[in-house]
Amino acid sequence: MQQDCIFCKIINREIPSEVFYEDEHVLAFPDINPAAPVHILVIPKRHISNLTEIGSDDTALLGHIMTVIPKIAAKAGIAEDGFRIVINTKDNGGQTVHHLHCHLLGGRFMEWPPG
Ligand code: 5GP
Ligand code: ZN
Repeated sequence: MQQDCIFCKIINREIPSEVFYEDEHVLAFPDINPAAPVHILVIPKRHISNLTEIGSDDTALLGHIMTVIPKIAAKAGIAEDGFRIVINTKDNGGQTVHHLHCHLLGGRFMEWPPG
């Protein structure tokens, strides 16, 4: 738990949010400013600032996140047509909230390359 982190506050229910999926290690909730018809944030419950802070001990956690994402996509009804996951990392990646999060985006065709 990092005191000034809004995602830690969502995990601790200090900031209210709809919970789309939850288990021991992961929380998933709708993005407050959706960029697609389905836009869910999937985050580890442990505060990790960004992908560069991942250590060798986190292999199982990252594997778990990647395993639950298709299940969350199926629950959101976007697994069949497909989806995109995005992990914005630090300034050039466009990261604005410094708690590791996967954007799960779907419900429309995703253009490539990103802006
Ligand atoms: P980033 O730009 O860091 O990759 O993504 C941060 C995301 O968090 C943005 O898409 C933004 O809309 C979302 N966000 C920021 N504050 C909140 C909040 O308080 N609640 C929820 N549900 N999403 C938030
Ligand atoms: Zn945090």
